[in-house]
Amino acid sequence: MRVAVYPGSFDPITHGHLDVIRRAVVVFERVHVAVLVNPRKSPLFDDEQRLGSIREALSETLGEAAGRVETAVFDGLTVDFARRVQAGFIVRGLRAVSDFEFELQMAHTNRKLAPEVDTVFFMTALEYSYLSSTLVKEIARFGGDVSAMVPAAVARRLTG
Ligand code: ADP
Repeated sequence: MRVAVYPGSFDPITHGHLDVIRRAVVVFERVHVAVLVNPRKSPLFDDEQRLGSIREALSETLGEAAGRVETAVFDGLTVDFARRVQAGFIVRGLRAVSDFEFELQMAHTNRKLAPEVDTVFFMTALEYSYLSSTLVKEIARFGGDVSAMVPAAVARRLTG
C-alpha cells in the first residue's frame, strides 16, 4: 500500500493545505496528516484545536476520500513518525520558489535520516498559491474576511 505522511503546523489549516491533501489522496492510498508540535513556534491554536479543525475540514471537503486520511499529533522527527505508520513518503506543498530552498534542505536531511522514505511535492492550485497560515492569522486579527481562505469551521474559530 502506498502510504504518505503530510506533516505541518496547520496553525490553522487553509484551503492551500486542503488542496495538497486532495492531490495526495489521488496518488496515495493512505495519507496521514500529522500536526507537528514544533518547540520553536508558539501556535495560535493548540494541538487539539488544530486536529479538530483538520478533521472537520476533511469531512466537509474531501467526501468519501476522507476515509483514507488519518490525523494525528506528533512531536519529534517526521521520519520517525513516517516509520511508525509505515509510510514510504513525506508529502509537502510548494507555493512559490521561496518555499523551495527550505523544502529542498528538509528533503535532503530526511533522506539522510531515512533513505527509505522519499519526499514528494505537490504544487497547489494557483488561487491558493499566495495563502499561508501566518497571513490568514494576520488578516483575521485585524478583522479582515478570511472566509475564502480557510474552511468554515476555521473561519468561525478565528473570528469567534
Ligand atoms: P510548516 O510549519 O511545516 O511549514 P505549514 O502548516 O505552514 O507547516 O505547511 C505545511 C506544508 O504545507 C508545507 O510544505 C507548506 O509549504 C505547505 N503549504 C502551506 N500553505 C500552502 C499553500 N497555500 N499551498 C500549498 N502548500 C502549502
